[in-house]
Amino acid sequence: MDLSMRFRREMDKGLCRDTNPTAAVKMLPTFVRSTPDGTEQGEFLSLDLGGANFRVLLVKVVSGENRRVEMQNEIYVIPEDVMRGTGSGFFDHIAACLAQFLEKMGIKERKLPLGFTFSFPCQQTKMDEAVLMSWTKGFKPTGVEGKEVVSLLRQAIKKRGDFDIDVVVVINDTVGAMMTCGYDDQHCEIGLIVGTGTNACYMEQMRHLEMLDGDEGRMCVNTEWGAFGDDGVLDDLRTDIDRDIDAGSLNPGQQLFEKMISGMYMGELVRLILVKMTKQGLLFQGRATPELLTTGHFKTSYIYTIESDKFGLAEAERILRGFGLDPTVEDCIGTQRVCEIVCTRAAHLVAATLASILRQIRDNKAAEKLRTTIGVDGSVYKNHPQFSRRLHKMVRRLVPDVDVRFLQSQDGSGKGAAMVTAVAYRLAIQQAE
Ligand code: BGC
Ligand code: MG
Repeated sequence: MDLSMRFRREMDKGLCRDTNPTAAVKMLPTFVRSTPDGTEQGEFLSLDLGGANFRVLLVKVVSGENRRVEMQNEIYVIPEDVMRGTGSGFFDHIAACLAQFLEKMGIKERKLPLGFTFSFPCQQTKMDEAVLMSWTKGFKPTGVEGKEVVSLLRQAIKKRGDFDIDVVVVINDTVGAMMTCGYDDQHCEIGLIVGTGTNACYMEQMRHLEMLDGDEGRMCVNTEWGAFGDDGVLDDLRTDIDRDIDAGSLNPGQQLFEKMISGMYMGELVRLILVKMTKQGLLFQGRATPELLTTGHFKTSYIYTIESDKFGLAEAERILRGFGLDPTVEDCIGTQRVCEIVCTRAAHLVAATLASILRQIRDNKAAEKLRTTIGVDGSVYKNHPQFSRRLHKMVRRLVPDVDVRFLQSQDGSGKGAAMVTAVAYRLAIQQAE
């Protein structure tokens, strides 16, 4: 409850003109002003960059009686040296993958509109302009921070000269999740990601977005809540282990809330706790193995297996043996318990910040009883057997007066970008008529 109030203050800080420059939670305008109404149509390309996989998609949106969305997509690998190399090398690689995809689909000669899902904090001034503020998660190409990424992509494509496309929008993955779910459920006004990283967006009143002129209607705000705590406001809740995770990360001091929650860090949180307990003689007879002591060796997906209902304990044993350990039943139970605690904490932290957003929307609408939908995506939410249940339960406890529906977004990052592009097209046509 207290945490939820803290986050509500951070949201305010990000929204207000005077406090925005120093706010940790940036509350970024997305220039997405309406959710789909179902009449969208056309063929679009999307790029999905910043999640577990880099993908290129061809999305066909059909309106009318047979309203539907059809997709074809390819996953491309971004080699380690490209990930850590120069920004221009990075965008050259993306353009090359795009070329391969167009070739494969036999559409290299067409100039299709493209929506770019770029899941990092970006300062936007319009729909097709996004200045990268800082990389997060495992990304690190040099010389991109502070640059406008759509023009970097356009340059890379132009340099090749073998195809042409029309980049219409750049969006965050949270916006993609909200928009895909919004296509099926008109009440959807929040997008949530709990995957490699974590973040949320929601539809805010323009009059509250002091950074922008205009008071009419609503706009989607990308909260970038992963950075909650970067100014120290979570220090009393962060443990020594949270500090260790941060110190060993690619971006120390940044994304502190995200590092307590998301899939990129959850496994490592568990590993560090197991190591600490072993050193205290509480597990594995006080003997840690080199495997257990290796950074990154405890994968987040192990937590999903260990917390599965039926075979969790047996799986815990199998996984711990894989670490060269010889666990007793108590060791397996202890390990399962550590997984449960780390996951439950993550779910409750997300519930607290979501509750703040729900209250904000409720107050905006001055509604007695709010009925709303959250479009959700991300590997932790989808693959952890208990995470979603724990999250839902806590959200309902924190905001009992709000009727919330959680809707899993099917491929939000791919479909969503196409959806936003489609809405932009629909509005442009309506304006022209
Ligand atoms: C990024 C967000 C993104 C989230 C989920 C975070 O690290 O800063 O922009 O929405 O990860 O992918
Ligand atoms: Mg305003």
